Amino acid sequence: MIIDGKEIAAALRKDLKKKVVELKSIYNAVPGLTVILVGDDAPSKIYVKNKEKFAKEIGLNSEVIRYPADLEEKVLLNKINELNKDNKVSGILVQLPLPKHIDKRKVIETIDYGKDVDGFHPINVGNLSSGYESSIPCTPLGCSLLLKKVEKNLNGKHAVVIGRSNLNGKPMTQLLLKENCTVTITHSKTKDLKIECLRADIIIAAVGIPKLVKGDWVKNGAIVIDVGINKTDSGLVGDVDFDEVSKVAKAITPVPGGVGPMTIACLLSNTVECFKKAYSK
Ligand code: NAP
Repeated sequence: MIIDGKEIAAALRKDLKKKVVELKSIYNAVPGLTVILVGDDAPSKIYVKNKEKFAKEIGLNSEVIRYPADLEEKVLLNKINELNKDNKVSGILVQLPLPKHIDKRKVIETIDYGKDVDGFHPINVGNLSSGYESSIPCTPLGCSLLLKKVEKNLNGKHAVVIGRSNLNGKPMTQLLLKENCTVTITHSKTKDLKIECLRADIIIAAVGIPKLVKGDWVKNGAIVIDVGINKTDSGLVGDVDFDEVSKVAKAITPVPGGVGPMTIACLLSNTVECFKKAYSK
């Protein structure tokens, strides 16, 4: 089974569009997403353009604020503080990476955690790891929705997460634990990644190495979610060797068209959730 992230994301956006209409009829207001882009990193520009397009498509109030790469840190922090106080803004996203002279941690911590649609604020990270309600980072959230499309009950499954970034690996681990999986988290110092993978019912690959996970690393019938997006001479590829692994896996996400579309759909979903929480206080 090839898990069609494009189709699942489109269905999620369709539901969200309906929700936005309902919320408007209840509160006479619509959720607002403000994205801040600093500098002109080419992939970031593409991501932001897509976020804007889909936010508009589902009826959100969408705004993109663009700053030059030499922006002073304090100007950015002041803008975030202004957006924190603006009732029309439900979600704030500062596109990463930021130029080196800007302290990413300070930026993340300045965003009101109730508007933190990326789920990177320490309060949201802490709530997620404590099993409390929180904003959940969009890519792992998308992965877990894809997993649930294949298997509703993940109780007792052995999941192997490759990569331990704050963006992907760590929050993914928390989500799998919440689903009662037994989780092995691996990284660049893991001694024998192949052996770890061979034990997995579920593999989540979030590494950034093209086609790292081979066919003979995967147990028959495993579910494989490929987060990687790697530019190569032969086009975009994931962290999983799709041709080999699709022959043994029960289900697998393609790259492109797997996790990527879910990330943006989950960002929109997080914005709607932030709006609902703010208006139901
Ligand atoms: P990252 O911050 O660079 O983290 C990579 C992780 O992989 C690190 O924990 C690293 O271990 C581990 N790693 C590196 N080499 C390894 C090896 N040989 N064996 C096992 N683990 C190894 O990357 P990221 O931000 O999580 O992104 C990972 C990939 O996902 C990238 O391709 C990125 O483009 C993609 N991505 C996709 C989406 C999407 O929407 N689909 C969103 C975000 C990112 P150490 O901690 O020991 O260094």
